[in-house]
Amino acid sequence: MSGNPFFDTAQAQALEDALRQRDDCATRIRELLERTAEARRPCKACSTELFFVRHANGKLTPYTSDGVNHFVNCPEAARFKKPKGATTA
Ligand SMILES: [Zn+2]
Repeated sequence: MSGNPFFDTAQAQALEDALRQRDDCATRIRELLERTAEARRPCKACSTELFFVRHANGKLTPYTSDGVNHFVNCPEAARFKKPKGATTA
């Protein structure tokens, strides 16, 4: 077996279980998005694959395959923010 000095067997098993659960969770999130998304297309700004889910308020919201709102994790998120009046520096 492994001679890893940092983990005993129980810890190694717990870590493996946690990683497997994380993978299961990611798979379920993706399946849920594939079932609920009204549209799928890449982000116009950063080309990440997006799943567009309609919320109860009628708004279509983009999610990445890991279930994160893309308005939060898009590197170009500032482009999507509605301008709140002109701010001149
Ligand atoms: Zn993006």
